[in-house]
Amino acid sequence: MKIAERLRAGVRTVTAAGTRQVAARLAKVLPPDATLALHGDLGAGKTTFVQGLARAWQIAGPVTSPTYTIFTLHRGDRLLLHLDGYRLEAPEQADGLLLEDFLVSPYCLAVEWPEKLGSRLPPDAWHLDFEIAADGSRSIRLRRG
Ligand code: ADP
Ligand code: MG
Repeated sequence: MKIAERLRAGVRTVTAAGTRQVAARLAKVLPPDATLALHGDLGAGKTTFVQGLARAWQIAGPVTSPTYTIFTLHRGDRLLLHLDGYRLEAPEQADGLLLEDFLVSPYCLAVEWPEKLGSRLPPDAWHLDFEIAADGSRSIRLRRG
C-alpha cells in the first residue's frame, strides 16, 4: 500500500527510527510546496517526524525543537521550514514572522502546535495526528485539511 493510504488508515510505530522512516517515505510523495500540520501532545513524535523529513531531503543539520526561536529554516533538496507554534500566544503573532518571505519553492512548511496559528494555516495543509498509546507506541494518522 502507498504511504499516504497507509497513513490515512493510521500507522503505528514502536521506535523513533520507525517514525522517521514513515516521515521519510511521505517526504518522497509530498507535492512541492506542502504544509504539514502536526497535531499531538508533547512527546508524541512530531519533532521526530520532522527529522525524518529532513533526512529524506538530504538536510544535514540537526532538527530539534527550537527553544528560543519560533521557527528554523533548513536547506536541502527542498526547503524545510520547521515552525513550533507552542510559544505563540495569539495567531496574530505569526504575522510578524513573515513566513511567506522565507518560503521558496520547493518547500515544506512543517508546523507543530498548528492550533496556535488558527486560520492562518493554508487551507490545503495536510493534517497529521500523533498519539501516544498506553504501551508507549505512537500512532500517526493522516487526515486532509
Ligand atoms: P514532540 O515534538 O511531539 O513533542 P518529540 O519528537 O520531540 O515529540 O519526542 C518524542 C520522544 O519520544 C523522543 O524522545 C523519541 O525518541 C521518543 N519516542 C519513543 N518512541 C517513539 C516513536 N515510536 N515515535 C517517535 N518518538 C518516539
Ligand atoms: Mg516538538
